[in-house]
Amino acid sequence: MESKRKKIVALGIDIGGTKIKAGLVNAEGKVLSQKVIPTYKERGAASVLKQIEEIICFFKNSSSKEIQGIGLALPGQVDDKRGHCLYCPNLGWGELEISRRLTEKTGLPVRLINDANAACLGELFYGKGKKTKTFLSITLGTGVGSGLIFNGQLFTGRFGSGVEAGHMVIDPTGYPCSCGRRGCWETLVSAPGIIRRTKEKMKIIKDSKTAKLIKEGCNEDESLSPEKIFQAAREGDLLAREIVEETVFYLAIGLANLINLFNPFEISLGGGVAEAEEIITSDLIEQIDKNVFPTMKGKVKIYKATQGYYGGIIGASTLWLHEIDII
Ligand SMILES: [Zn+2]
Repeated sequence: MESKRKKIVALGIDIGGTKIKAGLVNAEGKVLSQKVIPTYKERGAASVLKQIEEIICFFKNSSSKEIQGIGLALPGQVDDKRGHCLYCPNLGWGELEISRRLTEKTGLPVRLINDANAACLGELFYGKGKKTKTFLSITLGTGVGSGLIFNGQLFTGRFGSGVEAGHMVIDPTGYPCSCGRRGCWETLVSAPGIIRRTKEKMKIIKDSKTAKLIKEGCNEDESLSPEKIFQAAREGDLLAREIVEETVFYLAIGLANLINLFNPFEISLGGGVAEAEEIITSDLIEQIDKNVFPTMKGKVKIYKATQGYYGGIIGASTLWLHEIDII
């Protein structure tokens, strides 16, 4: 049985707002071959579905191994049982039949999963948190994604996206969020959130390397990045240091809320922001400990996610390669 399992592969596909990543993955979580193409979302859903169909056919025709099925990760809410996307704002999609349409065209079975939940499964099966009973994965990128394994089961909730930790309100008087509320966690600790806080501070403090960085042509969102802000902090810039401290502060508040709610054993932090050495520090742990129930102090392991760039496709493929209960 085990040797048979080693030979099987599944195709994981991760649909993002800008890129479609796809790859053949084996039962050990290894990406055997991959392909990344731009998402032509502005051409409409039918066009993107055609792109997905072509990518499936490419792997089907070029692989010598039998593909068990397709795990399709979408940036929003999905209904895997009916094979429908329910709502994917980043793609501009409302309810849309997906699995049956793709199976008709390609002959392969398709399962759907929310992208943050896919990343969570990748960490659960192949990361440091292997087979942890209650586990959270948080991705700090353009937004804040989250996935929850609760008592050994992937929690997807009624509408297929599971926990949306990025949209818990940390400051009701804070910045407006894409979801319509104010001061969500995402507005504070995502990459755009960090950039916005930096620019806000700039209006008050002018004498700073970060201020110079912005003045010297880094006014555009795409050129000022958390990496540049963290680098300025390392070089001793006071404004940038303040931003880093604030980021850790807000990160700790959110993580403490989640620890108090779910009592996880472990939490993985992934995405571009979590790559900075200033994020997972003793300072973060100390601040979390100040905000959690006394029994939980120092009990939750927090570490950097291990699955990286292909985490979404690796996680989506696990739907075909491993047994996972979904609630
Ligand atoms: Zn929100």
